[in-house]
Amino acid sequence: MTIDSEFKGFIAKQINKKFCRCFWPFEECKKEAIRAHSIQNSRVLQAIEQNGHVVMLQPKINFDEGPKAEFKDVGRNKATTFTGLCGEHDNQLFKPIDDSEIK
Ligand SMILES: [Zn+2]
Repeated sequence: MTIDSEFKGFIAKQINKKFCRCFWPFEECKKEAIRAHSIQNSRVLQAIEQNGHVVMLQPKINFDEGPKAEFKDVGRNKATTFTGLCGEHDNQLFKPIDDSEIK
């Protein structure tokens, strides 16, 4: 294995690494981050889904050919999710948006 391939492997591993702890910035929080939607699943994604899927641009890292992006069908419950906040802080941050009416 060359240094080049080791470096590529390290970078790929870091890119695919999932965050697992809460990143609430106002106080230290040691709770585990949940998988939360960055776009509301119950109202926004539901409005645009077809057969339980939405179309998302999926980035793909290929060190030999360069970065690529493809549009792919992604299950609605998995689409637009990230793991960055625990359930309590996710709710605290997004509750005002989740509870208000979309106009
Ligand atoms: Zn938290």
